[in-house]
Amino acid sequence: MLFDVSGAKHWIVRLNQKLQEQKKYLTSLDQAIGDGDHGLNMARGFQEVVLKIHDTEYKDLGTFFKDVGMTLILKVGGASGPLYGTAFLKFSMELKEKKEINGIELGEALSAALEGIRSRGRAQLGDKTIVDVWEPVVDLMMSEGENLNPDELIRLANEKMEDTKDMEAKKGRAAYLGKRSIGHIDPGATSSMYLFEALAEVLKG
Ligand code: ADP
Ligand code: MG
Ligand code: MG
Repeated sequence: MLFDVSGAKHWIVRLNQKLQEQKKYLTSLDQAIGDGDHGLNMARGFQEVVLKIHDTEYKDLGTFFKDVGMTLILKVGGASGPLYGTAFLKFSMELKEKKEINGIELGEALSAALEGIRSRGRAQLGDKTIVDVWEPVVDLMMSEGENLNPDELIRLANEKMEDTKDMEAKKGRAAYLGKRSIGHIDPGATSSMYLFEALAEVLKG
């Protein structure tokens, strides 16, 4: 498996399509346990990202993902902008001057992105956040490397998103609800599922 700037562009464009399509759904999830802007935040942010990358020629993956991360940090408010922005910036640092990477390098770079999310948000597994999708998915990618099955990645991301329904939120706005946050899927875990679903679809070719 090889991943290059063209694959990276396809990933981000595909993710943006999903976020535009699911904007209302993500907003309804955030209305239940947050302030109802997650769909708007993600749709606006990734629309800006797609505009930015559309007419730029990128010579390597590092400069490409640096633009993705910077745009998210600059254009998206709330908790999710800095979290996803930091993730893509850490990802870009791992991919400095790389034109093409294999499955092992992709897993390692995503692992660095997850560390960025953790150091920024301080969320643990089970806190009902994006980490509940990112951590198991990155673990799978690290352990499978070149043998990664994209369908298994999609299945796992969906399962881990669903699992946030029974969790009590410990971080972010939903944490103010305490036990009343139980019974609702986490909005950020859902947008993260789309992120990995879009990646897996690109890896499938
Ligand atoms: P805001 O809560 O500021 O309105 P969003 O609605 O865009 O921002 O994003 C909410 C999502 O951000 C939550 O569903 C959760 O998944 C994620 N989130 C919030 N705080 C954290 C954190 N500390 N670490 C990881 N993810 C978090
Ligand atoms: Mg919100
Ligand atoms: Mg908000």
